[in-house]
Amino acid sequence: MKTDGATTGKDQRLQIPAARFRPARTALVTGGAGFLGSHLCRRLLGEGYRVICLDNFSTGRFENVADLTDYQNFNLIVQDIETPLAVVNEHLDEIYNLACPASPPHYQLDPVRTMKTNVIGAINVLDLAERTGATAFQASTSEVYGDPLVHPQPESYCGNVNPTGPRACYDEGKRAAETLFFDYARTRSVPIKVVRIFNTYGPNMRPDDGRVVSNFIVQALRGEDITIYGSGRQTRSFCYVDDLIEGFRRHMQTPENALGPINLGNPGEFTVLELAERVIAKTGSRSKLVFLDKPVDDPQQRKPDISEARQCLGWMPETSLDQGLDLTIAHFDDLLRSRSETRLAEAAE
Ligand code: NAD
Ligand code: UDP
Repeated sequence: MKTDGATTGKDQRLQIPAARFRPARTALVTGGAGFLGSHLCRRLLGEGYRVICLDNFSTGRFENVADLTDYQNFNLIVQDIETPLAVVNEHLDEIYNLACPASPPHYQLDPVRTMKTNVIGAINVLDLAERTGATAFQASTSEVYGDPLVHPQPESYCGNVNPTGPRACYDEGKRAAETLFFDYARTRSVPIKVVRIFNTYGPNMRPDDGRVVSNFIVQALRGEDITIYGSGRQTRSFCYVDDLIEGFRRHMQTPENALGPINLGNPGEFTVLELAERVIAKTGSRSKLVFLDKPVDDPQQRKPDISEARQCLGWMPETSLDQGLDLTIAHFDDLLRSRSETRLAEAAE
């Protein structure tokens, strides 16, 4: 099967056991063909799970999961999470709710739909969990802290979100989804787990995803201008995808009364300008920096307090920004080469 979008897929695939006759557990991953979802599906298959991947392919890509469709334990369902989930008459142990566009340009394209995906999607996931007895896992976000006035951000911080701004469809949608998760746990005894994810990057992001790491790498490899929004002095903390997925799995395995929300992210903090400089140095690109308007409500600073994750999950990220960027640059380099897009650095030689 063709896997040009998942260039690391071949190696990862070797770690997946041949289809088992009776998988130990069954997991549904909504948004499973997206960036994080495809890594999670792969990880779960590797652990011997039967995996049902549900996606409407709005920002996800078939290439991300193409190689997984060879496995008997993997099922792909093309469905919108806003439709009630009649996925199964079968046993379900875990539902990971990742379905939602995550990149600001994508989630702002149709903000009403983003809000519906978050709210109606959460209700559909939680109703399915109630019917099946599965544990419902919510991929929440550091965006629930908005443009934070407390730094770094602990889980106890209630945030600083502008409810009427262009980011609100995502921020408030994710906040409402957290509310629904905790209300279903309190009033209907649905087992839940909630994580708040801080900026995560890695292979399987779309080249046109629009988030900063993929934008800078693709721009550098193509020799295009690197687009800095605002001064570039705003900060983010960048987590490599494998570390994040390890955190997901650890939280899912905590005792039933450990609900979260729990921050997952890499506490290393970098300005956007520092990120651009690293990407340019690593790619050897001749790209120039261009400074564009800063988006409305763009948070000025962000860094997770991961004390809870350390204490409750024994988790902390292991991949440095340099290591993660090397892996991600290699992925995009392969992808662009497979599309016959050459690197400026080489073209200029
Ligand atoms: P992504 O856009 O690559 O993946 C989202 C997936 O959900 C895509 O496959 C998309 O097609 C699917 N989807 C979107 N709307 C849907 C709908 N209505 N019905 C069914 N499928 C739908 O983004 P990602 O980075 O992989 O993010 C995955 C989840 O993690 C999202 O919920 C996001 O909010 C959350 N998250 C990610 C980050 C990060 O840094 N990557 C940070 C915070 C939170
Ligand atoms: N950003 C940028 N250039 C880009 C894309 C993003 O300068 O091409 C900035 C953006 O304004 C923000 C930071 O990088 O300050 C992180 O943006 P991203 O969209 O990756 O995530 P989020 O804003 O949701 O943290």
